[in-house]
Amino acid sequence: MTKTMILATRNKGKLREFNHAFEGTGIEFQSLLEMDGAPDPEETGETYEDNALIKARQIALHTGMATVADDSGIEIDALPGELGVKSARVWGGMAYDKINDILLERLRGSTTRSTRYVCAIAYVDPATGVEELVKATCEGVIHDRQEGAGGFGYDPIFFVPQFGKTMAQLPLETKNRISHRAKAMELLKEKLIRS
Ligand code: IMP
Repeated sequence: MTKTMILATRNKGKLREFNHAFEGTGIEFQSLLEMDGAPDPEETGETYEDNALIKARQIALHTGMATVADDSGIEIDALPGELGVKSARVWGGMAYDKINDILLERLRGSTTRSTRYVCAIAYVDPATGVEELVKATCEGVIHDRQEGAGGFGYDPIFFVPQFGKTMAQLPLETKNRISHRAKAMELLKEKLIRS
């Protein structure tokens, strides 16, 4: 029997990623695009975990259905505290090719180039009160230029040493195997299948 859960997003790409990761588990996600009048929870938390839980709890309360929500961001060690949980908001709608150029310029000459993507995913079941939280990272290095046309956001400057390419140069199937979100989805899958 298929169990339908809500994925607290209006992003079709995310919905596809989650449904792909959960194929064969009996769990299927429906996004907020199919739910009229769902609230748009504000990401007011101080951590990725807080934000994922805020979103999952609000949507679970609204829909009465088991809900999964994620929150992610990038951490650049040479710019402590600047991005992280605020990664999507600090730039005020600026285009990412411009943002990435600014970051490359700020890191010019810096030998501290380590970076990571972080993703937290929360699960809330309003019927049982069960809550689960998982978190995963994907380590990389800030490249010396933008390369690649795949992915989105910071991917053209996020160099993955294991493959000698930026995240934007890797095939989507590879990104979907090694990314912060992919790893967090695997952790969540283990928890939900076990329970
Ligand atoms: P959210 O979790 O969808 O709100 O994503 C937060 C922000 O983190 C995004 O807007 C991007 O700036 C950044 N981000 C998260 N995941 C990725 C990724 O896989 N590639 C590039 N940027 C990402």
